[in-house]
Amino acid sequence: MKILLINPPNCGRSIPEERYDIDSIRQIFRGEPLALEVLAGNLADHEVRIMDLKAEPNGMQQTLADFKPELVAFTAVTCEANTVLRLARELKDNCGAQVVVGGIHASSDPAFFNQAGVDYVVVGLGKGSFAELAAAIEAGNPTGAIPGIATTRPGGRLSFAPRRYGPLDLAEHAPPRYDLVAENRGSYILSSFNSRLGMVVSAFGCPHSCSFCCIGSLTAGHYLTHSIEAVIRDIRLLGDIPVIRLVDANTFGNTGHARLLAEAIVAAGIRKHFIADVRSDTVVRHPSLMQQWKEAGLRSVVIGFEEITDGDLTFFNKENSVAVNDEAIAILHDLGITIVGDFIVSPDYDDARFDALENYVTRRAIDLPILTVLTPLPGTPLYAEMQERITIRDLDYYTLTNAVVPTRLGEKRFYQQYARLIKAFHANAKL
Ligand code: SF4
Repeated sequence: MKILLINPPNCGRSIPEERYDIDSIRQIFRGEPLALEVLAGNLADHEVRIMDLKAEPNGMQQTLADFKPELVAFTAVTCEANTVLRLARELKDNCGAQVVVGGIHASSDPAFFNQAGVDYVVVGLGKGSFAELAAAIEAGNPTGAIPGIATTRPGGRLSFAPRRYGPLDLAEHAPPRYDLVAENRGSYILSSFNSRLGMVVSAFGCPHSCSFCCIGSLTAGHYLTHSIEAVIRDIRLLGDIPVIRLVDANTFGNTGHARLLAEAIVAAGIRKHFIADVRSDTVVRHPSLMQQWKEAGLRSVVIGFEEITDGDLTFFNKENSVAVNDEAIAILHDLGITIVGDFIVSPDYDDARFDALENYVTRRAIDLPILTVLTPLPGTPLYAEMQERITIRDLDYYTLTNAVVPTRLGEKRFYQQYARLIKAFHANAKL
């Protein structure tokens, strides 16, 4: 069967840009569509292509005309959901293929895609379930109950059997099809490193449950690690690409596995720069693990510090503290590992809180601070907590750079302060 996997274009709307002419906040994502490459790896019985509309925004019509897919699958994060729905409807009208949607938003809020234009929704990790669906469609039996796959019933209720995610869902024998995006590889760069970038996954899910985070919906709360051999294989498949982004939400969620992986990278003679996500409490509990990874090539870590008071960290169910964050920063500075620090700016911030955040970040010399605006993503505990306050429900604005609840400061002032901090932090970034 001919299967086309589509990565949606850069999309999303910006309140600061539309209302206040502040255009410095918009973010352009230039990474490869790894989730689709992973999916494609387990579709060996089919003819598969990937259409990356972020790299080729105008490529869809030509690809549809040339390839004539029988099954089309989209992935989408929340701010891409409306765009994907529109593209799905257009595609259904034009080429009549069966249409599937998966990814973060489909996993967090599957009912959103229970609409005309979409035939199936993949809920959670799709490497195993989507392959099962493709086989069932090809065999003319697509209605069989596949756990993790919902058949849409526009106007009705979406129902599906939940999937119990386990090692079989990783289908480790099947590496990502990096070759399917070879033509676009030159555009997959990391501007702050001024370098070509390749992505590898070593683990799925996260053992924690921060209230704003939608990662848990992908694996129903499980934390699954790839075998060391599979990770080394995938790094090698990326050839001479010098920087590897381990895209796991939490690469060090199983410290024993992380130690073995670092050992294997060194033993294999792999000499690359790695970027990976780690929690600050992991750094503090296991400084020797960070040292070991530094020797294996870990150049930067991404840490979700999120907030600057213990009360706010508790509100997010972060199970962490400012003191632990500070200790982790000191350890990483000593090791010479650069820190990309994620911070969440609340719409409740006033001028004093913006100033406090600026002081906090500056004093701790965080190499690249990333500021997002607190956004209750559908399907998260934070959404349930904040939904009464939400005034903007158009998902185009759920880019994590817009306030979807009223701001405490005047709206223009809020975005001016937000843009000011981003500009100041990026001017001093040291990656
Ligand atoms: S530790 Fe990170 S990945 Fe895990 S739930 Fe919290 S924010 Fe999400």
